[in-house]
Amino acid sequence: MTDRLRGELVACNAPTTVETQHGERRLAELRVRPTDDTPTDGDDAVDVTLWGKWADTAEEAETGMDLLLTDPETSEYQGRTTYSTGGDSYVVLEPDFIVDVTSIRSWVQCPRMYYLNKLSAIPLNYPVIKGTIVHEVFGDLLRGRDLDTAVADRVEEAGLELGVLGRNVAEVEGEVKQNAAAIEGWLQQGTLTEEDNWRSEYTLISPTFGLKGRADALRRGMPVELKTGKNTTREPRFQDKIQAACYALMLEERGIDADTGTLLYTKNTTLERTEESGDLSPAKEFSVGKGLLDFVVRSRNELAAMEARGEVPTGYEADAKCEYCFEQDTCMVVSGRLDQESKAGQIGTAVPEEEQDYFERFYYAIEAERRAVHAEYRKLWEQDAQERADDDRALIDLEPLGREEIDGNRWELRARKPPESVSKLRESDVALASDGDPVSGHAELCRITQLDEEIVVTADEPVELRRLDVYPSELSVDRMLTALHDTVLKGSDDRKDILFSRRDPEFSDGEETFIDNNEGQNQAVNLAVNAKDCALIHGPPGTGKTYTIARLIRALVARGDRVLLTAFTNRAVDNALEALREQGFEDIQRVGTTTGIREDMLDVRLEKSGDPEELAGALHNAPVVAATTASCGSRVMREQEFDVAVVDEASQLTEPDALAALNRAERFVLVGDHEQLPPVVQAAEPGGESGAGEGGVADKPESESPLATSLFERLIEAYPEASVMLTRQYRMCQRIQAFSSAEFYDGALRPATGAVAGQSLADIADTASLPGELRDAVSFIDPGGERVGNTNPTEADRVAEIVESYLVAGVDPEDIGVIAPFRAQVAEISRRVGVTVDTVDRFQGSSKEVIIVSFVATGGLDGPLFEDYRRINVALTRAKKALVLVGDRAALSSEPFYERLLDWADR
Ligand code: SF4
Repeated sequence: MTDRLRGELVACNAPTTVETQHGERRLAELRVRPTDDTPTDGDDAVDVTLWGKWADTAEEAETGMDLLLTDPETSEYQGRTTYSTGGDSYVVLEPDFIVDVTSIRSWVQCPRMYYLNKLSAIPLNYPVIKGTIVHEVFGDLLRGRDLDTAVADRVEEAGLELGVLGRNVAEVEGEVKQNAAAIEGWLQQGTLTEEDNWRSEYTLISPTFGLKGRADALRRGMPVELKTGKNTTREPRFQDKIQAACYALMLEERGIDADTGTLLYTKNTTLERTEESGDLSPAKEFSVGKGLLDFVVRSRNELAAMEARGEVPTGYEADAKCEYCFEQDTCMVVSGRLDQESKAGQIGTAVPEEEQDYFERFYYAIEAERRAVHAEYRKLWEQDAQERADDDRALIDLEPLGREEIDGNRWELRARKPPESVSKLRESDVALASDGDPVSGHAELCRITQLDEEIVVTADEPVELRRLDVYPSELSVDRMLTALHDTVLKGSDDRKDILFSRRDPEFSDGEETFIDNNEGQNQAVNLAVNAKDCALIHGPPGTGKTYTIARLIRALVARGDRVLLTAFTNRAVDNALEALREQGFEDIQRVGTTTGIREDMLDVRLEKSGDPEELAGALHNAPVVAATTASCGSRVMREQEFDVAVVDEASQLTEPDALAALNRAERFVLVGDHEQLPPVVQAAEPGGESGAGEGGVADKPESESPLATSLFERLIEAYPEASVMLTRQYRMCQRIQAFSSAEFYDGALRPATGAVAGQSLADIADTASLPGELRDAVSFIDPGGERVGNTNPTEADRVAEIVESYLVAGVDPEDIGVIAPFRAQVAEISRRVGVTVDTVDRFQGSSKEVIIVSFVATGGLDGPLFEDYRRINVALTRAKKALVLVGDRAALSSEPFYERLLDWADR
């Protein structure tokens, strides 16, 4: 007998009631086409009966959805095996849709609340920050730390947020201690024995139930949740119980029978018995029975099914009373502005239809991205360790080198990685550290602080570091939704008139000389300082964008403007800061993590930890604040207001990501080049690969995600008069720049000076020693060989020979770069050479004297480099003095664009 059945719903009958020997019972009959190895007795589908309350799930289900039935009962009917729910069964709809436990919590309060929470991020407010501190102190106490030290440390760590909220240390410490007293008291009570084993902050992921979350703590394997509010009834609050029950369910999947949940209401200890009646004890236990777990799964099914159908909850799905709801105002405003049906009703006037359409289009595109993130989660259990490593998603077989407690509350974990193993992971990434099994073993979120032969990460718990996985985060998806919500529902009409092309951007008069040796750059700064709404600076490769940005920021600050400097990557933010500092401007606060920010910019980093007043003062008084666009969505940054946002790498940002920065400022300047890398979008079409049902997300009439086009590209096409193109490039010699200029910039790109145009390898090397085929500034070499997976070892050998030739000629290894389309080929070449080898995405924004491009393709043109000609543009324009293209001539000749490329290289 099979212990589970999984498949696609092909027929779904409405529930009915039948007479049985046990009385009346509800049932729903379904047909499921198995996608696992469940036998179908020669048919293409099997009959499945859902009994009792599981029949409710059939009301949510639609054909095309994915259904999982655990512990089915089987019977024979007319020679066929039929399946039905039994006493131990669970029915899971769309198990691949991974729902966070906090989402289930809000869903059971009211489905519309879940939707509203998705749209608006948790704001910076005191109860939220205090709650976070209390949670951290809770973890510290479990780890045996002293209360006073823990409170002092955790309050200090929240210094910046507390400062922005205008709170002082003594007041906060006092309140946190009052709450922590509940925890301490409970920990010291006789309920705990020597056998108590505690785990704080336990990350759980459930492939069966499509759930993920982080339990506050486990005590003897039972979930404990901390709530910083009060509860004077005997029972825990229903939604709190549901949250703890979710963890119990996930623990059950790991074979742990978590039959009791505990809620700890820390505010109860701060209440005066004389003023409050009821049960003031902070800890409330409840038993977790199968009925409650079933309810949790059914609630999750409702949520997943509604998402699959692409519907927006109205609130009528549940019986919550709007008049008691904390979200009532928000609910009515959102309903009113977007003209949505809601149980709470609507207030305000609806935004124009074009804005509603825009909101809807982007909402579904962002949700499709969420599904793509879920698909990444799934790979954590669908792929085995080796497959994940081969896919660059994990570093496996690490050898633990030790763990050390740092700052008394975090752990530094060290491990050695096998030589030559590669992955997508980079320093400063958040990753999943585990003992070898990230799903059912011990796993913790960590931050990578060092990634070379030795790996160093920091984590809350001391995991034995044997494996490090890419952790797919929904944070960027959540931030996009918030930016969309803030723009459409809260944005000024002035701003929206520009975004929706209802009027042209306006400029004041005036002209100054800001840059006297480059007309284009000078025009760009003039345009941007005179912009009343926005300006667009189009900067092809090597045209001095960074210098222009720095000069522009100085000009804006001189006029009294407060400036937000932001970019897609930390590297671009730091490059702009470097230019700004080179021009003598130092009054900067850099927001970001110590691992993300370049070392020489750490001295202007805004500390998060310290005296609240000082930190908040430093931030508020800074005329220039610099952060990545991802950080612009953080709680602290969302409280900041600027006159101007200067956004570099704007052509690499999705529109909502750009909006996250724009929402912080009155005016904006976008700097980018839409002929280089576009935004990275994982889901090509809304609906992604998760197979939404009829009428669902997958059926939205979109062929390409609107996220694939940057706001920069859209606006530069809408308002060419609001843009300036920098046309003089300081990087490439004439010969190298010719192809890019002709193909991508209508021939407008040209060398800034004769020296730039005429530079050659002879300036830095003994070219006489080079083989004839490498003496020209641009060459093409066909090394032969075959593509093996994502590598071409023969091509890698040839690339290594070419690198060696340049080294022999005297080129410094630092001046040579190799670009390959796949990480596997990057690894293949890296094994052979001692110079920088990377993918094109990693090379954007940098340059080398000599660039060698390994195309890998043989037979046909597939692979990430060929997806978009703009990637080739980036690859070719990294080179200053010499560019060598290595690939299969026959494959490249199969497309006109590459034929022209070969013609140019052969010239
Ligand atoms: S106001 Fe009513 S419909 Fe809106 S979230 Fe609250 S309970 Fe739900």
